Amino acid sequence: MGLSSVYDNYSSFHNGTTFASAFDNFNNVPNLNIIEKLWGSYYYYMGNDLFATGLLFFLTHELFYFGRCLPWMIIDRIPYFRKYKIQDEKLPSDKEQWECLKSVLTSHFLVEAFPIWFFHPLCQKIGITYQVPFPPLTTMLFQWALFFVLEDAWHYWLHRGLHYGVFYKYIHKQHHRYAAPFGLTAEYAHPVEVALLGMGTVGIPIVYCIITQNLHLFTVSIWIILRLFQAVDSHSGYEFPWSLHHFLPFWAGADHHDEHHHYFIGSYASSFRWWDYVLGTEAGPKGKAQREKKTQLKAKKEL
Ligand SMILES: [Zn+2]
Ligand SMILES: [Zn+2]
Repeated sequence: MGLSSVYDNYSSFHNGTTFASAFDNFNNVPNLNIIEKLWGSYYYYMGNDLFATGLLFFLTHELFYFGRCLPWMIIDRIPYFRKYKIQDEKLPSDKEQWECLKSVLTSHFLVEAFPIWFFHPLCQKIGITYQVPFPPLTTMLFQWALFFVLEDAWHYWLHRGLHYGVFYKYIHKQHHRYAAPFGLTAEYAHPVEVALLGMGTVGIPIVYCIITQNLHLFTVSIWIILRLFQAVDSHSGYEFPWSLHHFLPFWAGADHHDEHHHYFIGSYASSFRWWDYVLGTEAGPKGKAQREKKTQLKAKKEL
């Protein structure tokens, strides 16, 4: 077992080659919570921090992306939920789902697996830490909220740009193959688009860390999981009475992104509704009604 830098004092550790013995060692470290103990044991057990980070990020991506798609695939097969489907006449066929799955998997293994291995050296260079204990929860909560807001802005402008002429024709057209999206289509896109929009998810934390020198890899992994959930859910094609945007009116969700796929123009943002609302780019008849309401309100104020 090589020595991981995940912890700074191994003097009390006993030897062992199993994950259980690694966990036993971390279990005796005072003031670590269960997730910190597991995180520490994982790195210690792997004995190669570069490989450990690469594998962790690759598996996290696969597990949480497909794990989140699975319930939507099941819901598609249960007639009870049909009444909540936004474009209810368009259920994805098995062939469509299979083709989408093949394409997404190819892209994961050929395009995304490669840069993931360079993530650990990059983290070390710019100062993203991975040691236990983790930073306080308040720090993490603040950073997650900030990443959501900044990613949404990045996504709005890049996505809006991708709808212009040649960019659409050669890059973004692929993502619009399915006018009625389903969970799996979240990452069905041209590699250039994956890279450009992925910059919002990965690049923003990197720049944040370069500026503040205060970011933990655990915070980044949870952020990526939350962003994956947001992306899959917004492509689910379902709108429920208990959907998040009913409680957080500025949250976008499937209701917002389905309109983008259906009407094709407007509703460009990923997580929130404010950019499309303020700049008057909400899609479809709902968007039009919204804009008219806004103009009427303004006219009334001016009277
Ligand atoms: Zn689009
Ligand atoms: Zn989409």
